[in-house]
Amino acid sequence: MTTLRVVLGDQCSDGLSALEGLDPARDVVLMAEVRAECTYVRHHKQKIALVLSAMRHFARRLEARGVRVRYVRLDEPGNTQTLRGEVERAAAALGASRILCTHPGEWRVAQDMRGWQDATGVPVEIRDDTRFLCSLDRFRAWAGERKQLRMEFFYREMRRATGLLMEGPDEPAGGQWNFDHDNRAALPRDIRPPKPRRFAPDEVTREVMSLVAREFPDHFGTLDAFAWPVTAEDAEAALDDFIRHRLPLFGTYQDAMAEGEPTLFHALVAAALNVGILDPRAACGAAERAYRAGDAPLNAVEGFIRQILGWREYVRGIYWLRMPAYRDTNALEATRPLPWFYWSGETDMACLRAAIAQTRDLAYAHHIQRLMVTGNFALLAGLDPAAVNDWYMVVYADAYEWVELPNTHGMALHADGGVMASKPYAASGAYINRMSDHCRGCAFDVKQATGARACPFNFLYWDFIARHADRFARNPRMAMPLRTLAKMDPRKVQAMRAQAAAFLQALERGEAPAPAQPSLV
Ligand code: FAD
Ligand code: SF4
Repeated sequence: MTTLRVVLGDQCSDGLSALEGLDPARDVVLMAEVRAECTYVRHHKQKIALVLSAMRHFARRLEARGVRVRYVRLDEPGNTQTLRGEVERAAAALGASRILCTHPGEWRVAQDMRGWQDATGVPVEIRDDTRFLCSLDRFRAWAGERKQLRMEFFYREMRRATGLLMEGPDEPAGGQWNFDHDNRAALPRDIRPPKPRRFAPDEVTREVMSLVAREFPDHFGTLDAFAWPVTAEDAEAALDDFIRHRLPLFGTYQDAMAEGEPTLFHALVAAALNVGILDPRAACGAAERAYRAGDAPLNAVEGFIRQILGWREYVRGIYWLRMPAYRDTNALEATRPLPWFYWSGETDMACLRAAIAQTRDLAYAHHIQRLMVTGNFALLAGLDPAAVNDWYMVVYADAYEWVELPNTHGMALHADGGVMASKPYAASGAYINRMSDHCRGCAFDVKQATGARACPFNFLYWDFIARHADRFARNPRMAMPLRTLAKMDPRKVQAMRAQAAAFLQALERGEAPAPAQPSLV
């Protein structure tokens, strides 16, 4: 009686619930590289290479432990190129009496998985994904009848539940739950962040990179700079490199951006966490140990732990609580198509150009670039949430819908009407100027709100506030920008709105934002 244990591409974890109680004599693990998963959006080439390489390494790891693995390669004859097709084929070939899996990360796959029992005629058991610190049941209970699902309160409960950075049952380390106010500095000119450790592609990864270049030549992005960890050992080394060299200043410069500094003091661990080769408990534990040993300050360690224990768990909870209706909401009625420069990076707006260029080359941009540059522009310009969600799913090595969607749809675009964030993360050029050095070398002038060289974030911001004034009047957190708008010279407001309209029309015609275009002023 063979039990077929299915391990998905983002489940390359030793402690996976689908592997619990595995009997090497009777059980077979199925891992399948399928085209459907590589192309349901046209993922960045590095994302596909990372997942396939992590899968091949994980299969070897299991085999080294004496586990029988049925591994189906992407270019293998007979591959049905769908997950369901490969489960059916394996169940029939092995005469499986039972199929065991771990709850998938994405709604689409969960729907498919629920049909595996009918498709194969074999009972299917779907186990909870215990790699997360908060189970979906626990999140549902927390959400309960609450009117507002604010991350901060969820995070405090998770701190109490796990004991992370706690001095007693209700006493946070340092007497404060949150050190966000200490974490908003721009990068001084004389500080150069240490370069993160790179993981040169080994033979397995090189083979996969050739496969990806051959099979998915039209997908976004380049493979040349591939340096992601693809095994648990490398992921641990990447975490260690972060804890030693970048964690101490992670908090202080968490919101900073700088030209030529694509990674600053960030951890670069989301891709490893999400594919399953790094355990979130281990990441939080390593950071806490650095704090207790006096190697990293509390504002940095609390900031890092909040991202993983708080935000990462919270967005997953929101995703499963609200799907599938969540992705169809469009609270701000945004419908404009995604401009071409999101793919090409061809724009004179220096902040956007930097974020998009590094996204193409590294499959990575840090949080503030995603939220306050590409996300903020999409929000202000009223870009269609579905198109923007697709873009974020395509372009990052760490992109999976359970984490991408709430961040993009909810946090960046406010398309969920405020489930995730009590007010839109909208900002003018002044914010980007304060947090970065991009404006110094930009063709636009961040100090101007109208005229040929006016920073588009400025007139788009005020146009956005004016466009949604009625809606925002009901939100006390939007009172300040509405008051400022009301006090402005109406002629200035009219000029900014006219320039915004011309700018947005030019975008729709496919023109890249550049200063001194007569059609834009
Ligand atoms: P660090 O800044 O070093 O943070 C440490 C870890 O905390 C991250 O690795 C991540 O696991 C976690 N984390 C931090 N912020 C968040 C957050 N808001 N939500 C969930 N986890 C968080 N993250 C993804 O993992 N996949 C995505 O597809 C994704 N899409 C995003 C889209 C938008 C529009 C925005 C605003 C954010 C998105 N994020 C996403 C969250 C965050 O930007 C990335 O996790 C982070 O930039 C990854 O880089 P890092 O590992 O260097 O993170
Ligand atoms: Fe970005 Fe405006 Fe600054 Fe240019 S001036 S870098 S467009 S914020």
